[in-house]
Amino acid sequence: MIAVLDPVQVAARPEPNPTEELQKTVSASRLNCWLQCRLKFFFRYVLQLPRPPSAAMFVGSIAHQVLQQWNHGRWRKEPFQTEKFKAWFDSQWTEEQKTSKIKWDDDQADERASAWKTLEHYFLETPIKADERPEAVEVPVEADLSHHGLPRLIGILDLVRAGGTIVDFKVTGKTPDPEQAIHQHEIQLSCYGVLYRDATSRKEAGLELHHLVRTKTPKLIVTRIGPITQQQETRLFKVMESYVDGVGRQDFVPSPSFGCAGCEYFTECRRWS
Ligand code: SF4
Repeated sequence: MIAVLDPVQVAARPEPNPTEELQKTVSASRLNCWLQCRLKFFFRYVLQLPRPPSAAMFVGSIAHQVLQQWNHGRWRKEPFQTEKFKAWFDSQWTEEQKTSKIKWDDDQADERASAWKTLEHYFLETPIKADERPEAVEVPVEADLSHHGLPRLIGILDLVRAGGTIVDFKVTGKTPDPEQAIHQHEIQLSCYGVLYRDATSRKEAGLELHHLVRTKTPKLIVTRIGPITQQQETRLFKVMESYVDGVGRQDFVPSPSFGCAGCEYFTECRRWS
């Protein structure tokens, strides 16, 4: 049984967030943004400056929506129909661009064809059988960590497979190295483990990263990880402590790096002092 969180608690709020509120509730996305660049965190979560998604984020979002439909279909024991997912993909691709102006780096038609080809490949190669009924799909969850002196942790579990394996989907242009992938997504995976245990009073069977790789010939890389360890939980809690302390001090300084090339707040950052 998984605790359901009121959707308004995870929705972006239109007005600037006071830092006290950001100290009370954290998510993997907030922690990752904080670790990446505290000034970016300030623009995104404190000022909440609206920005259209990048082309890569847009493609990832559409692919996630198709996968969500697929997961819900298995939950409802519906037969698998590629045409249904293709129709959903096509309609969302068009519909979402009515409200978001995407800056395409490459030809949009090519991007669209490549995105669908990658999804088709996933459906052929996925280790999840067509009749495997999920334990949970797109479930908002929360964990009260006040007994650790920490803020409330919130998140959404994309998919929990039958038997308690948590799956996270990634759409990427590069083939991931499994060890690096586990390291880079450690905060998110640890958050999932803590959230799952708090919601179900059970330890997860493991975690899986399903990388849908958008190379010329699409690939699927599945990285399997055991249940999160005590060390990983401790590392997550220390990151959360550091986050609360830094937000409280309003320590919003820039962290220039290679990642700045794709930062949506580059212009504002250059004006900051
Ligand atoms: S451009 Fe770089 S340093 Fe500036 S806010 Fe973005 S990520 Fe941070």
